[in-house]
Amino acid sequence: MISATLLSHLEDIVGPEGLLTTPEDMMTYGYDATLPEHQPEAVLIPCTTQQISDALRLAGENGIPVVPRGAGTGLSGGSIPAAGGIVLSLTRMRDIVEIDAQNLTARVQPGVVNADFQAALAPLGLFYPPDPASMKACTMGGNVAMSAGGPRCLKYGGTKDYVLGLEVVLADGEVIHTGGRTVKNTTGYDLTHLFVGSEGTLGVITEITLRLLPPPEAKRTMLAIFDELDDASRTVSAIVGEGILPTTLEMMDNLLIQCAEDFTGAGLPRDAAAILLIEVDGFEEALGRQVSTVEQVCAKQGVREVRVATTAQEVDDLWLARRTIIGAVARYRPSMVLQDVTVPPSQLPEMVARVVDIGKEYDLPIGVLAHAGDGNLHPLILFDQRDEEELAREQKAEAVIFAASLELNGTLTGEHGIGLTKRKYLPQALNPREMDLTQGLKTLLDPRGILNPGKIVGGNGDQPA
Ligand SMILES: Cc1cc2nc3c(=O)[nH]c(=O)nc-3n(C[C@H](O)[C@H](O)[C@H](O)COP(=O)(O)OP(=O)(O)OC[C@H]3O[C@@H](n4cnc5c(N)ncnc54)[C@H](O)[C@@H]3O)c2cc1C
Repeated sequence: MISATLLSHLEDIVGPEGLLTTPEDMMTYGYDATLPEHQPEAVLIPCTTQQISDALRLAGENGIPVVPRGAGTGLSGGSIPAAGGIVLSLTRMRDIVEIDAQNLTARVQPGVVNADFQAALAPLGLFYPPDPASMKACTMGGNVAMSAGGPRCLKYGGTKDYVLGLEVVLADGEVIHTGGRTVKNTTGYDLTHLFVGSEGTLGVITEITLRLLPPPEAKRTMLAIFDELDDASRTVSAIVGEGILPTTLEMMDNLLIQCAEDFTGAGLPRDAAAILLIEVDGFEEALGRQVSTVEQVCAKQGVREVRVATTAQEVDDLWLARRTIIGAVARYRPSMVLQDVTVPPSQLPEMVARVVDIGKEYDLPIGVLAHAGDGNLHPLILFDQRDEEELAREQKAEAVIFAASLELNGTLTGEHGIGLTKRKYLPQALNPREMDLTQGLKTLLDPRGILNPGKIVGGNGDQPA
């Protein structure tokens, strides 16, 4: 419980405009893009690293939980204050501090929105590949804390591959700097990548140094249309097996094609069992050969048609359909859970087939969406959470999907993190010694357990879900 005295000290740190306490505000900061909800007691919106340091010191002395929050688009409940306490919103720290074109690096504050960063780089002829489908809303701090991925990560790698250094406020308020500004750096343990993907449980990220690339000269976007879902998933592993590395290799099944069409009217084929959205990039002269190799592989796997987009509008329409699909399914059923199990690409056809069977067994519509090229499958389970029996079936289906992924040498999550919602499954993926090590790192960095308790390991994980 946060006392009136403590609230007044917090207000001294961030000013009246940086402290929220009304019931409406608490409701606003009590959820993310998952089902659970739990309200904080106060929301702090600091502007400086010093304010965060002072606030964490005070919270630590009083044993109050602190939950860092970016845009709240997380898909594993990471920014939900499951144990109450303070939500620390980073959205006022939104400066692009430096873009160093000569050294291909940039420094950003955590509240910078991914798409705004990309937009600032483009006119300078610079490129930052990680492109979560939520890029118009999600923050760079949230991306680093979750090690976010996205369609382009098949060729270019995910967020973790672009973080060179971090400024982090530790649970006791100390400020540390990890890594640096160079691509190569083997100075001691790799502390930077300890914090990348740490989901706000080990420290608050207050500045990020990123590696940039020159943009590819040209790209081609293709839509491959299949009459059988299995043909589409076999095509994915065939393309990867052929040694071609497209920029993106995204998959949607018929259910999601229908939802996307209803929402966007982008011109997707409603009668297809599945589509692949394939993009290749590089030097203009090399693109023709990449396109024809992809077409040949698709043909061998029984594709109905491969369309190559010829205008910027066609490309935009296809991507609009892909990027909005998670919201578009709300028209179909009131609740959805999006998982992101990831298997080796050669196992994708088997995993897709199992998801289809699981949908039938538990009598639930499950859309198949995938960053398919890297085996990252997003089964979209559609249901009504107000119906207890249906909710119970959804939870059983989810557990079977996780078990199938682990059995196929896959993971519980490829990019959305463990957070609150997958915490109970972690012991299935890590053995007891690995769980102990994970808990040991948490205890070392946050001995009082105030930073985002109940996420990944430790704390009040059994708090309301
Ligand atoms: C429609 C939709 C599409 C999506 N597509 C993708 C996708 O393609 N790829 C993908 O990887 N994810 C995707 N996501 C999930 C989500 O957008 C990402 O996980 C994103 O990185 C979260 O950023 P955020 O700013 O919203 O963070 P939040 O949701 O606010 O927080 C996420 C986690 O990061 C921690 N955190 C936030 N900021 C900091 C900080 N400065 N310091 C320490 N910890 C911090 C929080 O405590 C929490 O644990 C999607 C989500 C939606 C709703």
